[in-house]
Amino acid sequence: MDGFRKIRVRMAPSPTGPLHFGTARTALFNWLFARAQGGDFVLRIEDTDIERSSPEYEKDIINGLKWFGLDWDEGPDVGGNYGPYRQSERLEIYEKYLQKLIDENKSYYCFCSKEQLELDRQAMLAQGLAPKYSGRCRNLSKEESEKRIANGEKAVIRFKTPGIEVEFIDLIRGKLKFDATLIGDIVIARNLRSPLFIFSGAVDDFEMKITHVIRGEDHISNTPKQVLIQRALGFDEVKYAHLPLILAPNRTKLSKRYLETSLNDYRKQGYLPEAMFNFLALLGWHPKDEQEIFSAEELIKEFDLKRIQKAGAIFDINKLEWLNGQYIKKIKPVDLAGKLTEFVPSEWLNNKELFIRAVAVEKERMKKLTDFKELADFFFELPDYKAELLIWPRPKEIEKINKEKTLNNLKLLLEEISKIFKADFNAANLEKAIIPLTEVWGRGELLWPLRAGLSGKEISPGPFEIMEVLGKEETLRRLKIAIEKLE
Ligand code: GLU
Repeated sequence: MDGFRKIRVRMAPSPTGPLHFGTARTALFNWLFARAQGGDFVLRIEDTDIERSSPEYEKDIINGLKWFGLDWDEGPDVGGNYGPYRQSERLEIYEKYLQKLIDENKSYYCFCSKEQLELDRQAMLAQGLAPKYSGRCRNLSKEESEKRIANGEKAVIRFKTPGIEVEFIDLIRGKLKFDATLIGDIVIARNLRSPLFIFSGAVDDFEMKITHVIRGEDHISNTPKQVLIQRALGFDEVKYAHLPLILAPNRTKLSKRYLETSLNDYRKQGYLPEAMFNFLALLGWHPKDEQEIFSAEELIKEFDLKRIQKAGAIFDINKLEWLNGQYIKKIKPVDLAGKLTEFVPSEWLNNKELFIRAVAVEKERMKKLTDFKELADFFFELPDYKAELLIWPRPKEIEKINKEKTLNNLKLLLEEISKIFKADFNAANLEKAIIPLTEVWGRGELLWPLRAGLSGKEISPGPFEIMEVLGKEETLRRLKIAIEKLE
């Protein structure tokens, strides 16, 4: 509760592109605040810019938010008491308020052409003034404006910005003051049926009984304008919280490449929704202690607007990778295998048991789901490698190990491994059988060619783990191939 009002927050994306990283973070902070306070979380689609908005982007935004675990109490897809939740379906509401402002002489039609506006702008700049609207149409009489509109003349609707100092409380930054005389009369609608988001958003925050607006710092200059519009319409005050900008590790503005990467791209790169969720929550907010891994429930319990920082939040992709790796480690192989199916060639799924065993072995090494394909390819098909790979690239001080010796060692291994029953063919038993041999024949001398022959790769998991995954038959087949390569 906020006084007598139930806490209500909203996420208000414009569907003019896919769901981006920054938008996802804003949604998450609103969600956490609502869930922590027992409030409502509303999804409102701000699609009044019909040329740039599209239903596909709306779908992408909704799917993206759901993918990483958010849900909402009201929205275009779930309904609610304050709908409709798409601004394009609420035009008569905005029209009513636009008309009210015009009738009360708090807004007016502006007929200035683009060229005229540009000339005015240049003139102000030439005088060393910060450009704003000249106010040319501010005092046109209502009769004249209406006649010109009736004659089909093009006009926009401007808000009569009062020349005062606007103050509002930002829950993160404290009291903020803006000199509204610098703002000038802003355009709030292209016509009665075509409001700009600055206006429709202010109206909807009131109509939808929103108590707190939590959004990115990039909106901070819109806030005094919206506060003035709300006051002009006699609306209740809304509380604001502006989230810090997201910065690159060198504290410069994060390049669009990262920030504007859609959440879906991260999904395709093999990030888990839980990791993404955790990572985004720490982007500008910090817990009481040093804990870094949080479930959604833990975050709801801990979340407090007071611990949102003012300074820019550093976007560290290495941290995201690390977190993702931590989450991958926690998943059971069989469940992880299920998540990996879309990231591997379909033939790999023919032998389900082999697939799950390979997942169990590679799990610890994976940072992203996409890593598996490169890490585990050799389990499914032995790469065509050169015979030299089998010879241990030993440290210089050790006596030269040559082709013959490697060949003999591989033959010895083939013999020993053949003796192990299929039922006992696991990493522990294999290790028990082979380690004693290394005491006589040398560790690197035996284990290197064994591992290289099994994987066909310079780098791979250890030989015992690989053998357990491959099973006896395939292990022996690969050892024979290695021997043939050296013969
Ligand atoms: N539609 C605006 C945007 O996507 C929302 C601004 C707000 O949260 O008030 O940037």
